[in-house]
Amino acid sequence: MADLTRGIDTAELGSKMFRFMEELYPICRSITGEGIRETLDRISKRIPLELREVPTGTEVLDWTIPKEWNIRDAFIKGPSGRRVVDFRDHNLHVMSYSVPVDTRMPLSRLREHIHTLPNQPDMIPYRTSYYSETWGFCMQHERFQQLIEGDYEVRIDSSLEPGSLTFGECLLPGASEDEVLVSCHCCHPSIANDNLSGIALATELAEHLLTLPLRYSYRFLFIPGTIGSIAWLALNEDRVDKIKHGLVVTCVGDAGQPTYKRSRRGDSLIDRAAAHVLARSGEPHRLVDFSPYGYDERQYCSPGFNLPVGSLMRTPNGDYPEYHTSADNLDFVDPRSLADSLDLYLKVLDILENDGTFRNLRPKGEPQLGKRGLYPAVGGQGSGSELVARLWVLNLSDGEHSLLDIAERAQLPFHAIKDAAQLLLEGGLLKPAVPDSP
Ligand SMILES: [Zn+2]
Repeated sequence: MADLTRGIDTAELGSKMFRFMEELYPICRSITGEGIRETLDRISKRIPLELREVPTGTEVLDWTIPKEWNIRDAFIKGPSGRRVVDFRDHNLHVMSYSVPVDTRMPLSRLREHIHTLPNQPDMIPYRTSYYSETWGFCMQHERFQQLIEGDYEVRIDSSLEPGSLTFGECLLPGASEDEVLVSCHCCHPSIANDNLSGIALATELAEHLLTLPLRYSYRFLFIPGTIGSIAWLALNEDRVDKIKHGLVVTCVGDAGQPTYKRSRRGDSLIDRAAAHVLARSGEPHRLVDFSPYGYDERQYCSPGFNLPVGSLMRTPNGDYPEYHTSADNLDFVDPRSLADSLDLYLKVLDILENDGTFRNLRPKGEPQLGKRGLYPAVGGQGSGSELVARLWVLNLSDGEHSLLDIAERAQLPFHAIKDAAQLLLEGGLLKPAVPDSP
């Protein structure tokens, strides 16, 4: 049986994920363009990533791939000739997908194009306009209020032209062609928790799984939100039934408690595995039901696909005041939370990799464990729980109960049940009930 968590120094990996976020943070990403390409390029230096380009105008399900957007510079110059808003200071200052502008206008007209957060006056909001052609700037409300009447020079040096939408796909082949989908969106500019944290965790996870013999094949998607998952589903409609389990990785770097959002099905193995890991963590956590709002689980769990895809995160989108503002920055995330999230992901995937159903080969009475070296010679608290795990596995391995069923019934961590099953297999007391068990 594979052990996904063995030999892992999650603290060290937490720092590594944080450093990768620092590297990617300055890049101005959007749903298309050079920012997302550069991001994917950096990911591809670590894991085998195939880049896909879907041309503008391609019909994907009910949507159409938009024009490609790129930006070089943008500013507003005040009556004094000084830049009062500058894209070089923060890429959130320009509304994503702003069309090019080069004009002068009075403050009274310019105001209609400036977005602020009056209730969070020190934060720059994150705004996009992917599907209607307009332009806009975003700034701190407290600075907006200081703008004086007069004539302003407004320039956005951007392009919105036919091109393509880019996404990255990394397939790690396992023993089975059945797949686990790990999906993260990578279309946000300088925003840390949503979703640089997801990009960093998914990259780390893929890099780790690369080194292991795997039961499932793993498909990692690095895609622009919504349009990216819709494009992928449209291009892979005939093979989505290979996806047996899936997770959307997002908001995994904040200090909030872990949250698992169930798939639309609600009772898939991924839902049970995530609930088990969180319950056994002993830490505060939340389990929430599927809702058709959030990230790309909305597309994977649309009724025509209804894939078993949930989302394992910390604080969900919209539930923290820094969400979609300049305050969702590198100070809002920390290596320890990233490390904790990675540990949870590894434990959930470890269940997928190792769950199986077995049959007790000596089901009449308890087999004598002592003569097989499977009865702890000296009783103690630790060895007592190992014995209990072995007895549960023997008792419930009737071909009907999976190891996860047994772990839940015994109220023991999955890894304790898995380790017990491994020893009993080696001791000749168990055999897999179905041929594809690990
Ligand atoms: Zn977002």
